[in-house]
Amino acid sequence: MKCFIHGAKEAVAACKKCGKGMCSNCSAYSGHTGICPECRKEGFLIEIIRLKDKDKEWGKVVAKRWCLTILFSWTIIGLIIGICIINTSKEEREKDRKRIEFLQGEVLKLENAMIAHGEGVI
Ligand SMILES: [Zn+2]
Ligand SMILES: [Zn+2]
Repeated sequence: MKCFIHGAKEAVAACKKCGKGMCSNCSAYSGHTGICPECRKEGFLIEIIRLKDKDKEWGKVVAKRWCLTILFSWTIIGLIIGICIINTSKEEREKDRKRIEFLQGEVLKLENAMIAHGEGVI
């Protein structure tokens, strides 16, 4: 079996997802996960879309949390818990955004690696 990206190279493994053969370099590009760079890239893109959708809904999520906090602000404990949850949601969103950045970087790296490697083989 040959690598499906680099037809000149012998495959060392088959992708767990699509079953296509990948060479040692392709395996390395996908972090030896057993998944080919194409499938890995696709997985990253799906996660990016999911996180971006969640990010769009954040306005609603935080508004709901604020409403609950105001509703329970007649007790100090309710107010404290509410503020804590709102503070955590900021971190949660920040974390998601960093993850999006990280994933976009990984996608670029995979794309570059596949292109650079392809030229090297020819
Ligand atoms: Zn695959
Ligand atoms: Zn390859």
